[in-house]
Amino acid sequence: MLKVENLIKSYQDGNELLYALNSVSLTVEHGEFVVILGPSGSGKSTFLNVISGLESPDSGSILYDDYEIGKLQQKELTLFRRDKTAFIFQAYYLLPFLNVEANIKMGADLKGNQHIREIIDGVGLGGLEQRLPHELSGGQQQRASIARALAKKPDFLFCDEPTGALDEETSKQILTYLKKLQKQLKFTIIMVTHNSSIAQIATKVIKMSSGRIVEVTNNAHPCDVS
Ligand code: ADP
Ligand code: ADP
Repeated sequence: MLKVENLIKSYQDGNELLYALNSVSLTVEHGEFVVILGPSGSGKSTFLNVISGLESPDSGSILYDDYEIGKLQQKELTLFRRDKTAFIFQAYYLLPFLNVEANIKMGADLKGNQHIREIIDGVGLGGLEQRLPHELSGGQQQRASIARALAKKPDFLFCDEPTGALDEETSKQILTYLKKLQKQLKFTIIMVTHNSSIAQIATKVIKMSSGRIVEVTNNAHPCDVS
């Protein structure tokens, strides 16, 4: 379970404080697929970065099962992030000197994952294993970075516009695969997106506005990707 309470994160904006997160609380059960929607500047990315331990909040608590991440030493936080979490960003961050397969294995080596082959095929990169990132299209690079995150077998998968660089058909394929893998491996997905149609497949839809959660909708029977 992830339990977030009264998160506050502010930035200095001239003489005033700008509240990117203004007392945000949320509970997410294991295996949920959470989608975070909201206008640009509403705090979505800040929320994702703070709950994943990338940035620290001004105040508030973030509890993952037994881990209160604000109380961990830097080394423990690094281990927690390495062993339990994975990230899919809009930008790809593939290592330019490693081929597709080696990039994807980077995540997997941490857990001795035997399923690289399935993951490469699952995201539709079969046959491109030996290419370097600059020899891939934008969409293919995005798929490689998704595969790398999945190869880690995370407990918590954080996604910031994961399908933003993909056409509609490829997005559907990737989301279908993501849901299938989530069913098998039972990880939790927390996804920021502008694409409100993804909300249909989520178990929980959160709307943010001006640094606050203004709406939470639980969906006991999410649709398949359509
Ligand atoms: P969203 O992801 O919903 O577009 P963000 O979380 O990126 O929103 O930003 C929320 C607010 O915090 C915005 O007003 C943004 O300008 C501000 N903000 C985010 N990061 C920083 C930063 N590093 N320094 C100053 N202001 C920031
Ligand atoms: P996408 O819609 O996935 O972004 P593109 O239209 O950019 O696809 O690319 C189409 C095809 O061209 C892909 O199969 C890709 O392998 C190939 N391609 C694109 N850029 C490069 C490159 N720099 N080197 C080699 N092949 C490329």
